[in-house]
Amino acid sequence: MKNIAVLTSGGDAPGMNAAIRAVVRTGIAKGWNVYGVEHGYAGLMNGQMQILGQRDVGGIVHLGGTILGSARALEFKTVEGRQKALDELAKREIGGLVVIGGNGSQTGAHALSEMGFPVVGVASTIDNDLYGSEITIGVDTALNIALEAIDRLKTTASSHKRAFLIEVMGRDCGYLALMAGIAGGAEYISIPEVPTEPVDIANELHAAYARGKKHSIIVVAEGAKYDAEALVQYFKEHKATLGFELRATTLGHVQRGGSPTAFDRLLATRLGAAATAALANGEHGILVGTNQSTITKTPLATVIVSKKKLDFGLIELQKELDR
Ligand code: ATP
Repeated sequence: MKNIAVLTSGGDAPGMNAAIRAVVRTGIAKGWNVYGVEHGYAGLMNGQMQILGQRDVGGIVHLGGTILGSARALEFKTVEGRQKALDELAKREIGGLVVIGGNGSQTGAHALSEMGFPVVGVASTIDNDLYGSEITIGVDTALNIALEAIDRLKTTASSHKRAFLIEVMGRDCGYLALMAGIAGGAEYISIPEVPTEPVDIANELHAAYARGKKHSIIVVAEGAKYDAEALVQYFKEHKATLGFELRATTLGHVQRGGSPTAFDRLLATRLGAAATAALANGEHGILVGTNQSTITKTPLATVIVSKKKLDFGLIELQKELDR
């Protein structure tokens, strides 16, 4: 194999650049040309790709986002769309592709691999909802950003005896909310995996005040049954019975930005290198991820049909800690 290509797809995650850099440099070290594909699968179908040299990936390891850009490309879900991508790859005699991204991106990677092309996926999404990797690129940075916001809110909440609600990302997965809530000492954490009613939250806050707490921080996952907006509305409408209102902060895309943490840079570098090593060994149709600091390889066919489970022991732990 002389040429390979690398792309980033779906939501960007801090650390993607470190992964691109690792793929390019370890690929070049193997004697290959490494094409960088712009704008994910959209660029792959349109032939937007060029050979990247060592210097092209210099000075990016500390940057959030992705220098290659990312896009949502519905056409790639069709066989015709993927055939266009295969034609572009064939024109340049590219014999392997590294796809850095989350669930949707790895579903696309699997579909391409089913058409006979060697693809290796790299586990990257801030949501940490991808089966086949205990932790994915971008999670640690996003978690630290959420935590910093909680710490800041706690200071002001204590001063004014207020109840603050903070909504964090994660799509249908409560991982970020749960981890940020435990690390930040939240009074209540609401996640999609455990549907909660507003009255449960209100009761919990009353109990917390009765125990002498000066503040209340509630962490809500964006995919929870009631998101921040719905909860604020509910508390407003029931102020007479509940006794207080909530103030909400939605972190949104702030969580994706910023410089990746040391953990994310190292994880991304190791996974990028593992992806080219796999291609060199003739391994493909797999996702490279990590489990307890060890590199793992899981068939994409398994990854896309499996659901990652949240550690329910941690939910119990949070309840015990909130005293
Ligand atoms: P994140 O979890 O960080 O948001 P993601 O990889 O899950 O990232 P998606 O928007 O779901 O992001 O998917 C990215 C791209 O993957 C889509 O725009 C599409 O091009 C491709 N894709 C998604 N699902 C499929 C599918 N079933 N078949 C082929 N391609 C797909």
